[in-house]
Amino acid sequence: MSDAALHAHPARLRAANWIRTLAALAVLIGTVVILTVVFGRTGERIALLMCVNVAAVVALAVFCGNTGIVSFGHGAFMALGAYASGILTMPAGLQRSALPELPGWMAGYELTLLGALPVVLLVGLGFALLTGSAVSRLVGASAAISTLGLLIIVHSIAISAREITRGSQTFYGVPRITDLAFVLAAAFLFVIIARLYRESRWGLFVRAVRDDEDAATALGISPRRARLVAWTLSGTLATLAGALYGHSLGAFSPASFYLGLVFAHVVMMIVGGMNSVGGAVVGVVAVTILQNTVRNLEGGITLGGITLPEVFGLTTVSLGIAILLVIWLRPQGLVGGFELGPGAGARLLTRITGRAPQTPAPRPVTTETLHARGLSRSFAGVKAVTDVSFDVPAGRITGLIGPNGAGKSTLVNLITCQYTADSGTAEIDGVQLTGLPRHRIIDNRVARSFQNLRLFSGLTAFENVLVAALAAGSDRKTANAIALRELDAFDLGSIAAMRADNLPYGARKRLEIARALAQDPAILLLDEPAAGMNPTETDDLADRLIRISEDRNIGILLIDHDLRFVNRLCSHIVVMNRGAKIAEGDPEEVRADPQVIEAYIGRGRVARAADAPPPKDQALAP
Ligand code: ADP
Ligand code: MG
Repeated sequence: MSDAALHAHPARLRAANWIRTLAALAVLIGTVVILTVVFGRTGERIALLMCVNVAAVVALAVFCGNTGIVSFGHGAFMALGAYASGILTMPAGLQRSALPELPGWMAGYELTLLGALPVVLLVGLGFALLTGSAVSRLVGASAAISTLGLLIIVHSIAISAREITRGSQTFYGVPRITDLAFVLAAAFLFVIIARLYRESRWGLFVRAVRDDEDAATALGISPRRARLVAWTLSGTLATLAGALYGHSLGAFSPASFYLGLVFAHVVMMIVGGMNSVGGAVVGVVAVTILQNTVRNLEGGITLGGITLPEVFGLTTVSLGIAILLVIWLRPQGLVGGFELGPGAGARLLTRITGRAPQTPAPRPVTTETLHARGLSRSFAGVKAVTDVSFDVPAGRITGLIGPNGAGKSTLVNLITCQYTADSGTAEIDGVQLTGLPRHRIIDNRVARSFQNLRLFSGLTAFENVLVAALAAGSDRKTANAIALRELDAFDLGSIAAMRADNLPYGARKRLEIARALAQDPAILLLDEPAAGMNPTETDDLADRLIRISEDRNIGILLIDHDLRFVNRLCSHIVVMNRGAKIAEGDPEEVRADPQVIEAYIGRGRVARAADAPPPKDQALAP
């Protein structure tokens, strides 16, 4: 059932969400029960490792799923957790013989597992912060490769730090956990933490950054910090999962946490679907079943009279095949977008169907004026904007028109520091915007939309607006209410729970404006908000913008090609051509300006234009 269909039936949505939660957890519990009941001791052992893997893969997906960056470095955290917890819990006598050269301050603690885990958590946290400060600066392939580098470095250190790890030899004497209930509870706890994080302020921020880094930055989100939070939480959880893994193995070596393990975990995550926590759970279960089935075949088997030979490495090969098949047939993983437990969409519906929240009034605008002064920028010799000055006062819609390539979008990018200006400044009531980091523009209450839709495609309509309100500094409760207010103002309430990339075009355009308004701006820069809309949609948008500028006293800079649209909304129009401002004034003045006529109709056609009216969408008349 699609989200939209669900929206029509809030009660069914709630029920469906409960069923989803129970279904995915039931898959885990069900597998554990079947394994222990049917396969006895061996099954119990497999179930134990499976639960540890759920914890590890959920930890991995906290980073990968929310940032979209695949990490190969989590084996480093697991190794750290396993060795640290092993040293802390090892019986003192055994430790003296197994690790005779262990530094004194590390030796002889003999903690219980529960006593050791808090220390392991702190160690993991410290290491995650340290490594995260580097990894969080990178995106895409370079980030993924840096995590691989981390894995290799930690692996080499683990081999060379013999006094602590016994080098590449087996590290033994780690107390074994045989308690299936304990690891199952840990897996559940990890799932809950991952779900809470995903819906939290920082979870939403980093998912917005994943979907569109520039748009997220323009809202006021620092991509680096958002990724650092994800990495730190993910790495800390992975360290704890590593400790559990170590205790379930009892003896291990640096190779236990190297490429083999990392590869298995990445396969589990991708097979299940890395964009949801449910995917991690289902992926681990599916791959565990596959691995154990294939492992039995590896030693050779007789099937219906045919004896299959012994195949070495069949388990690894089957993992490779599994990942290829999933990427080919079901790129979003087995689970796809299906998520464990109610998300923000469902909570929103509960809110709508329950008591209506108090709609917060927009923050009042106190006569702020945006001054652009002498802004210039060229790209490799092309003068995109040359010495442009104008004002955007509060409470007025200022039009910015000009043919394609006139430099309008570049001007908005200069004001919002998306591009650095070669010269000139933008300031708002005495505060310079020029030179600020991009994510600090919103502190001065300047919000924008983009010419080409820049929505967060993997987030729902509601989350798109919610994340903007949160990024502008609202607390969660206010942000929820603001998001509802803006969705309502743009008639998007009924599709709030749909993913942005499933919305019709007109709704997406409106959603982008709603997102900018959720930031409670004093100045709003709209880059061709009506582009691609049909005339009915355009008129409807004009009505809404007029109402908003009157009600909220916001200063709006409206860029558009459609002069009819601009004339209707703007009492003051700035005209650009080839990077320069060529005219400014009220619609009549601008319309009568010979330079404007020339820019719009072209030199050769000025004479003919007297007889034949220009095309409708370029008509200079209101
Ligand atoms: P408009 O929004 O008025 O259609 P733009 O501001 O998008 O115009 O573009 C103005 C000029 O600047 C164009 O010639 C365009 O090719 C150039 N330009 C804009 N951005 C860049 C960029 N990032 N790199 C190179 N040239 C650019
Ligand atoms: Mg443009």
